[in-house]
Amino acid sequence: MTQQPILSVHPGQIPRRDHEVQLFHYFRTEVAPQLTGMFDHEFWTEHLLRNTQSQPILWYACNAIAATHLLDRTGCGETQSHQTPDTLPLQPYYQYQAALQSMRDLISLPFVTDTTKIDIIVASQLFIILATLRGDNMEMMTHYKNTCMLVGLWKTWAQTRIHRRLDKHSIQAADSVVYTCIRADSLFLFMQPPSYTYHSYWEGCTLRLRDDPFVSLTEAYFELEPIWNNIVKVAVHPGPEGPEFVRDGHEFVQYACDHYKERLLKWHKKLDGLRLRCREVEDRPALAVLDLRAATIKVLLYSCTREISCLCWDACVASFGKLLDDAELLIQMRYASAGQKEATSTAEAVRGKLGLGSRAMTLSPMTNETLYLVARLCRDPAIRRRACTLLAHDYHLTPSMHTLLYMHLADAQIRLEEYEWQVKAAVRESTSSCGCSREHGFVCDGHRIYQTALDQMATTGAVLHLRTVDDYIHNRHWRTFPLQFNLHEKGVGTLTHL
Ligand SMILES: [Zn+2]
Repeated sequence: MTQQPILSVHPGQIPRRDHEVQLFHYFRTEVAPQLTGMFDHEFWTEHLLRNTQSQPILWYACNAIAATHLLDRTGCGETQSHQTPDTLPLQPYYQYQAALQSMRDLISLPFVTDTTKIDIIVASQLFIILATLRGDNMEMMTHYKNTCMLVGLWKTWAQTRIHRRLDKHSIQAADSVVYTCIRADSLFLFMQPPSYTYHSYWEGCTLRLRDDPFVSLTEAYFELEPIWNNIVKVAVHPGPEGPEFVRDGHEFVQYACDHYKERLLKWHKKLDGLRLRCREVEDRPALAVLDLRAATIKVLLYSCTREISCLCWDACVASFGKLLDDAELLIQMRYASAGQKEATSTAEAVRGKLGLGSRAMTLSPMTNETLYLVARLCRDPAIRRRACTLLAHDYHLTPSMHTLLYMHLADAQIRLEEYEWQVKAAVRESTSSCGCSREHGFVCDGHRIYQTALDQMATTGAVLHLRTVDDYIHNRHWRTFPLQFNLHEKGVGTLTHL
């Protein structure tokens, strides 16, 4: 770090402080590349960095993330050569407070330009990442809601994809912030507390889809994400209460599914056009991620039913297996591009030293969500265990908080569903007759987990709330189970299935 020249300057409106310039240098060189993931690279590494130089709110927000990241990586005691031990531990707090003050200053102005509005929204999104990095679930959700409120208030979606230059780097800042919100919503679907109710902050929002070809993989990712988001809500019951369009009844859900089938077809056609033009080797993983997500959506979209039951997924066993094959190829591709020999065992994968010591922060999609959904929806013991093993490799390659949670959610669900196998058949038959059986590797529909929620998330665990199909049909209360994990350690020690 110290060998590199410190090129970063700072916003002209505020006095230059050496430790902030150093933090920003760390952000630029170490953190920003991790934020991007596979898609929307230009936004996070160019647009954002450029705007920090004129906008103190972004400068402070980036520095707050850098300080937290650095502290996480080095621990409180050991410090990097140029950081004095006394200043670093308080910097996340100081930088964050300065960013909040900048936000208050900007919001109180009588007039702010569209560009400044987007900077404010970006800062708010950086606060989500900061809270995620600290494992503060409550604050993460608060900032997420604030971000959506700001986008709604300023109708930022109206600026998306109006002007587009026909080159690979044509993403507008408005696109990036709006689709990042949709992406964040997808990531939070399985992390909502039981009291959560969906609320649309974007009254009147219509994201226009274009019929002309995709110009970049990022565009293809942006257009796929709203489909993913809505189909997971319809098909998987991730949250405590379905969003309005799901609750509005069978007819509307049918309409929504038909609508998304059509959109997915159109999306596929546009992607095929782009595929012919993506001949570079470095495009392959991103294309594979998009293919995997589209294939996952297709399985959900064509198999889900409106009944309160998990039986519909039994027809997808072969498709689930195929999704895992594709995910495995993608994971091998990632091992190859990381220049690493594949971890030989799951245990090695979750304890290995690949990647940075600290958590990966990107919001970009990868393989983890598909793997989690297969483990959640499929009741074949071998297939869901294979999904869990692949999740461990995914985590090894990119140790993100979301993957960690997916691993624990999948593990808890399998454990709790298969717990029925331990209940003596005679005891069970006196209460209810079901076909749960270890010999047949079978969990009955009534004992399958239908709905989950997550509460009290801290750096060392959370509380999982769940309802089985039976619980849901009989309108029983949530059952609760503790989940244990450690957001400050990369290793995973508490999973029974690994
Ligand atoms: Zn049963």
